[in-house]
Amino acid sequence: MNVFKFGGASINSIERIENVGKIIKSFGSEKILIIISAMGKTTNALEKVVDAFFAGNQKEALDLFEAIKNEHNYVLQQLIKKESSSLKDFYTEIEWLLHDKPVRAYDYYYDQIVCCGELLSTALVSAYFNEIEITNNWVDVRDILRTDNNFRDAIVDWDFTKTKITETIVPLFEKTNLVLTQGFIGATDENESTTLGREGSDYSAAIFANMLNAKSLTIWKDVEGVMNADPKEFADAQIIRYLSYNEVIEMAYYGAQVIHPKTIKPLQNKQIPLYVKCFLNKDLPGTTIDNKVAHNLPPIIVVKQQQVLLQLSSKDFSFVGEAYVSKLYELFAALKIKPNLTQNGAISILCCLDDKPDKIEKLALSAAEYFDVLVEKNLTLLTIRYYSKEKFDELTKDKKILLTQQTTETIQALLH
Ligand code: ASP
Ligand code: MG
Repeated sequence: MNVFKFGGASINSIERIENVGKIIKSFGSEKILIIISAMGKTTNALEKVVDAFFAGNQKEALDLFEAIKNEHNYVLQQLIKKESSSLKDFYTEIEWLLHDKPVRAYDYYYDQIVCCGELLSTALVSAYFNEIEITNNWVDVRDILRTDNNFRDAIVDWDFTKTKITETIVPLFEKTNLVLTQGFIGATDENESTTLGREGSDYSAAIFANMLNAKSLTIWKDVEGVMNADPKEFADAQIIRYLSYNEVIEMAYYGAQVIHPKTIKPLQNKQIPLYVKCFLNKDLPGTTIDNKVAHNLPPIIVVKQQQVLLQLSSKDFSFVGEAYVSKLYELFAALKIKPNLTQNGAISILCCLDDKPDKIEKLALSAAEYFDVLVEKNLTLLTIRYYSKEKFDELTKDKKILLTQQTTETIQALLH
């Protein structure tokens, strides 16, 4: 058995949905669990619905949702001729909620509304597969994947989910070759919908692969495989054919938008290889990620925009020792902030962080109790793994370097 994950871009048009059908047909009677994301940019569109609803703009929320409905209905009509399938039940569930007034926390409503993106896309693709005689079973993953109620960043209940998969998904595969379900979403023990964090469907796919003891997980993307840099920014970006689990975890840590960072652990724990392949040309080899150490990797470049530099200096010229450092880390923990880079000096600490304005403001205010605080915004953090001096000079040419940090493998520079 294998697990496939198709992202939103793989089903963002009629032709692309047809293409997914062709890919699945080419695998004949193999047993595959298929996870599909919300169509195109539906998740972003649903976030706007949540914002409008929570701000009390009911009419705007309903209008925005109507546009999402129209888009899905159009695709459905184009793809399904034989029988009339409908997405009505999912629509009704959301509209019902939108007619209420918000009385609970934002994150709760976020999950109840945003989860419908993957329910709609998978129901639609499942109906299309039936239309073209690809027999499949659609499963509402909220009956399987149990989480806590930490809405928008829910933690998976590993034992419950494992039992459900063994009791319901495994027997399903005795009757059918294809099971189609959602990534990114789950439910609490009170049947409230939850989500696992943006881009979380890679992680869902890895959980299923782990619990089903899958032979492999394939993530189908619009790029040839994992690249050594973002091809939109670097014309000479190249594909990396082999990567180790470790390397991918490192890349994700430094901010590479390759695969959701939580994806690797469930695979590594069971030594399940991960293939990243291109849905635009399924015959390209793509990238294989497993336990083997890959040699001769090209420089791997990660660029993080919208960085903030916080300079924290002691107020009275005293050394910033462990007491100051631990205070600072307590503030990070309390605000759930992960610094991207820190550097300690005699009387100051520098930290580079993602610019989440409300959090940065809170951090700066709290830190001001112990330090003099300076904040500098609109910076870029460049990370190069397997760097050479030439590559570093090339990428930092004409830029003001505020801070660098390096190990034998990795160099980072904060740029103005
Ligand atoms: N649809 C969700 C998102 O766009 C989850 C995913 O695609 O992984 O973040
Ligand atoms: Mg995605």
